[in-house]
Amino acid sequence: MPTEAKPLAERLTRLIAANGPISLAQYMAEANAHYYATRDPLGADGDFVTAPEISQMFGELAGLWLADLWTRAGSSQNAHYVELGPGRGTLAEDALRAMRAARFEPPIHLIETSPVLRQNQATRLPTARWHDDIDSLPELGPLLVVANEFFDALPIRQVMRTDGGWHEVMVDYRDGNFTPVTSGPALDDLVPEPLRDAPEGSLIETSPAIESAARALAERIAKQGGGALIVDYGYEGLATGDTLQAVSRHAHADIFAEPGERDLTAHVNFAVLETIGRSAGATVHGPIGQGQWLESLGIGARTAALVKAAPHRQAELVAARDRLTRPDEMGTLFKALAMIGPDWPAPAAF
Ligand code: SAH
Repeated sequence: MPTEAKPLAERLTRLIAANGPISLAQYMAEANAHYYATRDPLGADGDFVTAPEISQMFGELAGLWLADLWTRAGSSQNAHYVELGPGRGTLAEDALRAMRAARFEPPIHLIETSPVLRQNQATRLPTARWHDDIDSLPELGPLLVVANEFFDALPIRQVMRTDGGWHEVMVDYRDGNFTPVTSGPALDDLVPEPLRDAPEGSLIETSPAIESAARALAERIAKQGGGALIVDYGYEGLATGDTLQAVSRHAHADIFAEPGERDLTAHVNFAVLETIGRSAGATVHGPIGQGQWLESLGIGARTAALVKAAPHRQAELVAARDRLTRPDEMGTLFKALAMIGPDWPAPAAF
């Protein structure tokens, strides 16, 4: 076990020994906080690769999408660029370059908790300002927001159907291993009515952390104007099933081994984002597949232009476009959703 992992595993073991099992949400929150605070996990040498790391086209098209929205809304001079969980800063760098070409050069606000990633972001985006959460964003001026693979890293709760009703999935420490168990009071009220009779062993997932971040964001956009592009892998509507996964070195790994050493993610329920966005007063568009979104924005033409400028990169550029857009790759499982200010125009591509 790498040396930094020990303190977290030991701390969680002590916590469980003293107070009993912890919630899965707490386990996931602590594991991911440690994971992101201690490394840059992105890229071929890391644990996983994201769309902006696959190709500059992803960030460029996100930037053009924002610039187009901003222009059609009247080119407000006090708008802000905001990114949630900016990773290496690659998306922001590509988006801001594309936005500059459209004469949009807003101040940059990055919401990032990891000190290691903040440092990486600072080398690419020296003028950015950093925030711990949405609450400290400027309260004046429209917010033009991007969140790619941010919501999937936030902690989820799981509730499981047992023979005695629905109960929270907790994490215990038994025989030297972290182990999921169900315990606590019946939580049938948390389960949407149509799913309550699901067979024993069924799981539903909810995420108070996702809900409160989505609500904070939507309220700001409803009040200040602007728009948010949320891209993540996920599903829509009522569903049972376990979507929590751990990834290490580009392969699936054990969720309960070495907490804080693997990336823990869950699929995002886009229906929840939609409902929260609308009830906060924003206009919601989508979700649509990432492939459809990129194709409507002209990824085909952008690929052709880049190939023309650098013919030796043709194979690489075409492979990147395919990876981002094909239904059997990232094109369908990854979805794009837009939350837009109530007085703002409809966004492109939805
Ligand atoms: N958007 C980037 C990185 C995705 S990885 C890309 O597409 O490449 C998830 C990012 O969210 C990381 O930057 C991570 O440090 C950040 N993050 C995770 N949990 C967070 C939280 N609770 N608050 C703020 N940032 C968080």
